[in-house]
Amino acid sequence: MTLAKTINFRDFIRDIPDYPKPGIVFKDITPLLADGEAFGACISALACHVPNDAAVIVGIESRGFLFGAALAQLTGLGFVPVRKPGKLPADVHAIEYELEYGMDRLEIHRDAVSHGQKVILVDDLLATGGTASATLKLLNQLGADVVACLFVVELSFLGGRKALGETPVHYLLSYSD
Ligand code: AMP
Repeated sequence: MTLAKTINFRDFIRDIPDYPKPGIVFKDITPLLADGEAFGACISALACHVPNDAAVIVGIESRGFLFGAALAQLTGLGFVPVRKPGKLPADVHAIEYELEYGMDRLEIHRDAVSHGQKVILVDDLLATGGTASATLKLLNQLGADVVACLFVVELSFLGGRKALGETPVHYLLSYSD
């Protein structure tokens, strides 16, 4: 009998201090992507939180594409990208949201999700929740029903979960400082 190996995802997330600016500890997920077994286990673990009636996986640019597209493939669902401004070729619906300094904007193809469709939102990391909550609003404005928000990493000390209200939030790893 072969015993399944337990994978500690924390071993595959690398801290990069002072990136992209002083005081930020960047959680680098590239070691996780680079290990086929760990990446596969990560996608399988995320798939446990995809309900049977979900129709579409929505990934946020850019690392949300890596996890979201793999998850879509594993679950047999479609994948929809939410992109930075000016990247999508067809008619878009956009949302602007506040960053620590200034504003940012995310876009989705208007016809990418339909009214009442059950959608799973995916990104690599939940920090303040600004990006995910803007995407949640964007999807709600198009009439989609976001049934879960999935992340590989949560930085719990930044309280991002509050920004997502009642929507169920799941993550594989949480850092408390
Ligand atoms: P937020 O909108 O504050 O929740 O930030 C989430 C987005 O920013 C995600 O798309 C992450 O990829 C990225 N991000 C924010 N903080 C970090 C961090 N410490 N390490 C890696 N990515 C981060």
